[in-house]
Amino acid sequence: MLELRDVHRTYQIGESTVQALRGVSVIIERGEFVAIMGASGSGKSSLLQILGLLDNPDKGEFLIFGKNVNTLSEDEQAGVRNNVAGFVFQQFHLLKRMSIVENVRLPHIYSGLKGDFHQEAKERLRQVGLEERVDHTPNQLSGGEQQRVAIARALVRDPLIIFADEPTGNLDSKNSAEIMKIFKALHDQGKTIIMVTHENDIAAYAERVITMRDGVIVTDERRPGLALSSMAVAGENGFELQGAGSASLLQNGRLAGFMAQAFQSILANKMRSFLSVLGILVGVASVIAMMALGEGAKAAMQEQLKSMGSNMLSIRGGSAKIHGAAQGAGAVARFTSLDVDALAALRPVIKNAAGVVNGNARIVYGNKNWSSSLTGAGFDYGTMRASIPTVGRWFTREEIQTRAKSAIIGVTVVKELFGSSNPIGKTIKINRINFMVIGIAPAKGFAGPQDEDDVVLIPVTTAMYRVLGKDYLSSIFVEVASPSLIEQAKTSISELIRKRHRLKADDDSFNIRDMTEIQKMLTSTTQTMSLLLGSIAAISLLVGGIGIMNIMLVSVTERTREIGLRKAIGARKNDIMLQFLVESVGLTISGGFIGVLAGIGISLILSSFAGWAVKTSLVSVVLATAFSALIGIFFGLWPAKKAADLKPLEALRYE
Ligand code: ADP
Ligand code: MG
Repeated sequence: MLELRDVHRTYQIGESTVQALRGVSVIIERGEFVAIMGASGSGKSSLLQILGLLDNPDKGEFLIFGKNVNTLSEDEQAGVRNNVAGFVFQQFHLLKRMSIVENVRLPHIYSGLKGDFHQEAKERLRQVGLEERVDHTPNQLSGGEQQRVAIARALVRDPLIIFADEPTGNLDSKNSAEIMKIFKALHDQGKTIIMVTHENDIAAYAERVITMRDGVIVTDERRPGLALSSMAVAGENGFELQGAGSASLLQNGRLAGFMAQAFQSILANKMRSFLSVLGILVGVASVIAMMALGEGAKAAMQEQLKSMGSNMLSIRGGSAKIHGAAQGAGAVARFTSLDVDALAALRPVIKNAAGVVNGNARIVYGNKNWSSSLTGAGFDYGTMRASIPTVGRWFTREEIQTRAKSAIIGVTVVKELFGSSNPIGKTIKINRINFMVIGIAPAKGFAGPQDEDDVVLIPVTTAMYRVLGKDYLSSIFVEVASPSLIEQAKTSISELIRKRHRLKADDDSFNIRDMTEIQKMLTSTTQTMSLLLGSIAAISLLVGGIGIMNIMLVSVTERTREIGLRKAIGARKNDIMLQFLVESVGLTISGGFIGVLAGIGISLILSSFAGWAVKTSLVSVVLATAFSALIGIFFGLWPAKKAADLKPLEALRYE
């Protein structure tokens, strides 16, 4: 069944080479129980590993049922191991995180077969006398029991051949005897067993003893009286390479199995997992919070601009280029109500015009006083700036003409001076002059740091002549008939003002500001902000990704022997790769998920404490989660590939 023809195996350690096998030829028939004996270093393990397809010869041929198997690819050899061979090692090689029944079931993950293997695994455990311990972990078992679990695992795929390398090497004589009894029973059931040992009493269980020295077979004896023909059961001449099922990764709950394992391993290192996803968590949280803030700011700004009125122009004295500081001669155009009337006459391009004068107000009611900003408003200001009170009323034209002492106050002023009582009809003092409150201005909220509700509105004439003592308006608001007429309106307005004030064409002693310009400016500012915050988030995600890669590399190194074991029992490259990728994606997605929650939390806290508007969008949540999964794949790829490329033999020997 198994045939080696002049097999050589040489190991290279740095400069020196070790010739472990130098020309071994042997035939092993079906149903044999072979013990390979010899001194330490004589090449026993090397021979067993080649027979078990864990290693390939440098020279010579290895045939199974007459078929050369050393030309098979790595993955095909894994398939053969899974289907034909069961391994029992001196060090047991059980996976500590799993219960023993899961350990026993493990080879089935890589078989591609369907079915409830839990039951079968239990059956195998009964076969080795451990049916009571199925839910225990390997650490809770004695050495002898652990080796029995390993035998159950070797049996679960019902292999043709069982390979055992010093199976009793770590056990006392009582446990050794028990293990050997199991092997004997298996042999009696027709299993082929190839076992390495250096102890004579262990070898005595076998029916054929091969002795090695310095990489060659020196003796090969069958137990006297045992005819070869009786042992060589005539069996079907074939074996499957790929396992009974196909090797598709998404088939038969394989992915689900990997996910369960990834979950286990993440939970096994809770603190480490948490720390390693911290970068992703912070990155995602800041993306979510940033986008919520950005959206909130945008919505608030739009609301703000709407409340300012649409198609608005504001005309002020002074240069637009240098704010505040007067330039050159410092000529500043001064406007009066006559200018307002002249501008209003520019219909139909202009719909409305209203003069405004600004100042500060010291307001007193009873024993309370409050400082606020004072706006003297013309009649049309109310409609143009959406300031018509919903409680109370706007000024009449008469009140504006007669410099009436009527006031409209914002909700902040109401709160400060009146608390919850009704202010309408009450008398307040504004800069020591008595005014009657006739209305409450509609609430507008904050424009940046400025409270738009901390205002007092009085007729523009009253403000100029009675309260502030100014002869000129601070600015004139103009509402253009439609957005398309804004440029035309600007030209007409400047022509009119230049004519009325006899200004030269290049004289910029006044300026016209366009609200859409302000809107554009604000939008570009928020875009710059978003870009900045976005790049900070991107950097932290990148750093987070590197953190993940690092921890995955550690994890691969730590679990080298586990990878070796998995490969020995039939895991293909893709299986190992997928296992680690699922783990890193699992890490980043859970980090991303916590990050989403943290981000929403942060934005809620910001909105309730700082009074900022926030708007968490579903898009940002989906985007952040998808992005963290991508990071898991991208940064997990290299460690996963490193794991997948490990050679089973070297991985198993890793200390
Ligand atoms: P045995 O199992 O009979 O004790 P081995 O087959 O394990 O012997 O080893 C035979 C020789 O090959 C020894 O000298 C050992 O040091 C060497 N050897 C075995 N495996 C390796 C390896 N992976 N790398 C380098 N040298 C090895
Ligand atoms: Mg050995």
